[in-house]
Parts: sequence; C-alpha cells; structure tokens
Amino acid sequence: MQETPQNLAGKCAIVTGGSRGIGRAVVLELARRGANIVFSYAGNAAAAEETRASAAALGVEVRAVKANATDPAAAPALVDAAKELGGVDILVNNAGITRDKLAARMSAEDFEAVIATNLTGAFLMTKAVLRPMMRARAGAIVNLSSVVGLRGNAGQANYAASKAGLIGLTKSIAREVAGAGIRVNAVAPGFIATDMTDAMPEAAREATLAQIPAGRLGAPEDVAHAIAFLVSDDAAYITGQVLAIDGGMSM
Ligand code: NAP
Repeated sequence: MQETPQNLAGKCAIVTGGSRGIGRAVVLELARRGANIVFSYAGNAAAAEETRASAAALGVEVRAVKANATDPAAAPALVDAAKELGGVDILVNNAGITRDKLAARMSAEDFEAVIATNLTGAFLMTKAVLRPMMRARAGAIVNLSSVVGLRGNAGQANYAASKAGLIGLTKSIAREVAGAGIRVNAVAPGFIATDMTDAMPEAAREATLAQIPAGRLGAPEDVAHAIAFLVSDDAAYITGQVLAIDGGMSM
C-alpha cells in the first residue's frame, strides 16, 4: 500500500462532530497525515473516546471536547484547545443533524434546530478561527454541504436550506479572507454510509442508490480523502469551491 504523505505534520485541525461517521474518518485521515486534532462531539462519549484513542495511536496529539455546535461557548472552547496544541491551521465544519419531514408537517422548531446546528454552528466556528488565522495569514476551512444543498430533497427542506446556506457562507467568507491567505471550500457528499443514512427507510435507500452512476454508496473515507486534499498546500490555489463527492449523483 502507498504510504500516506505527512503533509500536515505540525499543523493543528479542529473538526466538529468528529466522534462518528464522516467526522471520525476526517479526524483519522488528518491525523494519519501528521496533524494534531481537536474534535467536538454532542454527547456520545463512548464513540468520542474510541475515535480519540484511534487517532492518538497514529502518533499525534488529540483532544475530544464535548461541545454542542449550537452553544455560543463551544467555538471559543475549541479554539482554546487548539491553541494548546500550537494554534489553529485547519477547520472542518462537519457537525450536522437531520429532522426530516414534509414541509407542510414540519414544525418551526425542527426547521430552526437544523439551521442552528448545521449553519449557524458553522458560522460561529468560522468566526472564532478567523482572527487567529488572519494573524497567521494562513488557514484552510472546509464546510460539509451536501448534494441535497445543490438539488433539494423532498422531506428535507430544513436540511437542504442549511446545506445550501453553507455554500453561500463558504463563497462569501472565501471572498472576504482570500487576500489574507485563508482558503474556504465546501464539499457536497452524496449518499455516504453512516449512522445518518442508516436511519433512512429501506425504500428510500434503494431509490437513492438507483440515482448513483457509480452504483454504490460512498464511504466516509471517500469524503475524508477529498477534505485532506483541500486543507493541504496541494490545494493552495483553490478557494470558494464546492466539490461534489457523490459517485456522479449530482452531475
Ligand atoms: P453522523 O454519522 O450522524 O455523525 C454526526 C456527528 O456530528 C457525530 O460526531 C455527532 O456527535 C456530531 N454532532 C451532531 N450534532 C452535533 C452538535 N449539535 N454539536 C456538535 N456535534 C454534533 O453524521 P454523518 O453522516 O457523518 O454526517 C457528517 C456531516 O456530513 C453532516 O454535516 C452531514 O450533514 C454531512 N453529510 C452527510 C452525508 C451522508 O450521506 N452521510 C451526505 C452529505 C452530507 P455525537 O457522536 O456525540 O452524537
């Protein structure tokens, strides 16, 4: 097997929602490339500890912090933890939830809860890292959008709005900070096998699978590899972009 490049050695990355699924794969991939990691989780302490130990076994410093993306104190706490590991070079806004229902039946609370976690949480986290990144005149941020943010999806008006919102956030902030050496990109995964998609009814899974030219679900690692590229210096001239990682689903 090819050796993973140590191209993030000495850097420190914050990953929100790193305990499970895509966030966990991102934590492990960035750690494999030499980055120290601070990751947040909402409440699943057992999963967080498993991810922390697996990443630490790769020989880097890792901190797991229980910090809800909707809590205004979460972002400063994660930045402080990163400063203890040398600063904040990379941010991956990954924490996300779904509360699916057709719009006619969706409560305002369900709409707002998804926007608060997926979109406002990413804004608060980004705002908190920009000052140290601007001081360093360097930094890379990746936001987890979704194919649903590009195409919409029946039953996911709240989720689609949050993921489309993240694209506007990505492009606006990318324009604001490009001159300061900070890059901001988004990825738009398609159907990735995690706890989030396990919760889908079987018929909906089958229907989605039929729309994927590659003929398979994505793995969390498929997303993590693309994010590891986007936060590395190999992507030094890429900013404000949305990279679909979806087996061709959105083309
Ligand atoms: P997942 O398996 O449900 O994992 C979600 C992660 O986020 C967990 O680590 C969870 O922590 C954390 N989290 C949830 N709410 C949080 C909050 N309020 N504050 C802090 N952390 C929170 O999800 P996933 O499938 O890996 O998805 C990760 C991201 O990719 C999401 O933004 C999702 O929208 C996006 N995405 C996923 C897919 C897909 O097909 N799976 C496709 C496109 C985009 P606990 O372990 O403590 O609960």
